[in-house]
Amino acid sequence: MTLVAILSGAGISTDSGIPDYRGPQGLWRKDPEAEKLVTYDFYMADPEIRRRSWQMRRTSAAWGAEPNAAHRAVVELERSGTPVRVITQNVDGLHQLAGLSSRKVLELHGTARETVCTSCRARAPMAEALARVEAGEADPSCTVCGGVLKSATVMFGERLDPVVLGEAMAIAEACEVFVAVGTTLRVQPAASLAGIAADHGARLIVVNAEPTPYDELAEEIVREPIGTALPALLKRLAAPPDAGVGARG
Ligand code: ZN
Repeated sequence: MTLVAILSGAGISTDSGIPDYRGPQGLWRKDPEAEKLVTYDFYMADPEIRRRSWQMRRTSAAWGAEPNAAHRAVVELERSGTPVRVITQNVDGLHQLAGLSSRKVLELHGTARETVCTSCRARAPMAEALARVEAGEADPSCTVCGGVLKSATVMFGERLDPVVLGEAMAIAEACEVFVAVGTTLRVQPAASLAGIAADHGARLIVVNAEPTPYDELAEEIVREPIGTALPALLKRLAAPPDAGVGARG
């Protein structure tokens, strides 16, 4: 069976009303004050930064967001019997909310749906911390050890989880098709996964409105809107080997 790896970036979630925060042109990068709220050293050093950061989380567009046609198309591909792994740069959890098993999703930048303690690493649902903020706590601390709590996302200045990154590289090496969707492929090391996949013989397909540095390695480049282009592409990839233009046995 053809293993399809899908690397998804901010562009897959814009139809769900979630803007690009952390990309090279993202909201945080364009606003130094906002960037401080998601930069580890500033966050740890300054309770006022943390207070503002909790207020930003409380009002995040992500909480009301629903998966869109592109997220659902990935689930349909998986349900067609095609082995699928998603590697995502997003922290919104929309792939799982669309119905994809958590086992099939690697979150390179973590998840905004949980908190993690910076001292004891205990994790808990984000909703619990946000309820404490609603109740008046400016900077809720870890209920286990009293340490500083943060979103379970990879902040600027933090390393990616080496285990997650290692799994992502193994998938990039093993897959037959690698679809990069809604990502500028300009943030490392996520972007290099596209190169690793191509080096190991995978067909690279880029679905993104703007050119990416990996376009010349791509067998196919799709510039159409993701909400219609990805469902059409994945339907083609799900076709049996002898019937589909894009399938290969
Ligand atoms: Zn703790």
